[in-house]
Amino acid sequence: MVRTELESVMKLNVCSQLFSRPAGSVGVANSSSVARFGPGLVEPTRSILRQRARRWAVLGAALPLMTAAVFTAPSAVAAPVFGATPWTVVLCKYAGASAEPLTAADAVRRFVSPGVGGMADYWRDASYGNIDISGGFVPSLHSSRAKNGWYDLADLGAGHAISDFQKLPNGVRRAKLLNDCRGAAGDDVKLEPWSHLLIVTNVNDGDTFGVAGPTIGGITIAGATSVEPGSWNVDNFVGQEMGHGYGLNHSWDTSPCEYCDEFDVMGNFRNGVGYKNVALAAPQRFALGWISASRVFAPTPGIPTVQLAALTQPTVAGFLMARIPDSGDPSHFYTVEYRQQQGWDSEIPGNGVVIHEVRSDGKIVFVPVKEASNRALTVSGETFVNAAGTVRVQLNCINPAAGTATVSFAIGAYGTCGSGATSTPPAGSGGGSGDGGSLGGCGRNGCGLHPPGWHPSPILFT
Ligand SMILES: [Zn+2]
Repeated sequence: MVRTELESVMKLNVCSQLFSRPAGSVGVANSSSVARFGPGLVEPTRSILRQRARRWAVLGAALPLMTAAVFTAPSAVAAPVFGATPWTVVLCKYAGASAEPLTAADAVRRFVSPGVGGMADYWRDASYGNIDISGGFVPSLHSSRAKNGWYDLADLGAGHAISDFQKLPNGVRRAKLLNDCRGAAGDDVKLEPWSHLLIVTNVNDGDTFGVAGPTIGGITIAGATSVEPGSWNVDNFVGQEMGHGYGLNHSWDTSPCEYCDEFDVMGNFRNGVGYKNVALAAPQRFALGWISASRVFAPTPGIPTVQLAALTQPTVAGFLMARIPDSGDPSHFYTVEYRQQQGWDSEIPGNGVVIHEVRSDGKIVFVPVKEASNRALTVSGETFVNAAGTVRVQLNCINPAAGTATVSFAIGAYGTCGSGATSTPPAGSGGGSGDGGSLGGCGRNGCGLHPPGWHPSPILFT
């Protein structure tokens, strides 16, 4: 699959055939998945469903099917997203394919319910509570139109077998799948401009994808994605597709390689190792407006030393991100974040301070500081210097027990030691440790900490 070609043609975010299917993940909802998500089940009440039905009835009758909808191109830079962003989850069977690898109740747990380790929690945490997908629902859970929780494309007539779809060009096929699965659900699904639609196919079609702003059934909605048995069992594969639905694009590394940012769910596929349990990187969260200004450090002249809290531990005191302009162009900057191997980041290469470059076209690029199994700043004294030599970031130390890293910055006319300015980290949210200016036992500022990390000439790797 030539993904870059597809994306340049279709202006879609495509994740086609990029996953390694975990053993046992294909075709069945195994017992471990149930255990993993726990017994909790939160679903819309019948009264809420009735309210929705009334609203839909007001908005219009059955919507026409469109088999060649035009997807709008995603903007280069994602716009902020706040509040309720419910996803409507449609379980969709290809005509003639009998597999039913997921129950509607499982889909509720996996994609809708908060508090059970599914995608509602993933996005609650990635957004620091700024969005809420728990208002989504799985319409087939209570539908008499669905059979065993699934809508059948065969109900739309001939031409809906997987082989029929796969004869079509990619873009046409994707549009047809989204439109027809919605159509198979009939009046159970009514889309509105704020809607997000998540299609689950019952067999692997080799094309998991996500898109912002698609037109489905004549309505341009916020976002949509289609996942399949080989991908919906991989939480962060689904996470990337839903991220596309929020307008996010893939992240790169500097080689340049798309999908080669092992610290971002939007780029996590380096060396074809498959999707890992990785959180959404700081610059992506920043683009969506999810990191408050008080948690973003803006380096000032001198050599400030600050405490960063692990991106996935917002209750810890410290900045969640530093934003360092690279030039007079405000849309071009570096971001610095501390990532700790736990929670949604349990499968990152290891603890480390991660540098991204956000380019003026909105592209987010992971900047490795070395070629190693963990390409982040991991060793005390290790330093990143940008190509122009105007931005330096030095790791002083990582304190995993505290969930923090201390980092020194030198911006502009670095090399003139002396200011030793230290910025007090902001308190963590939600009753964190709040230990004020403590640097977690790493020691404080001063030029004495910096050599030999500060190099006299610009370098990219230490
Ligand atoms: Zn993708």
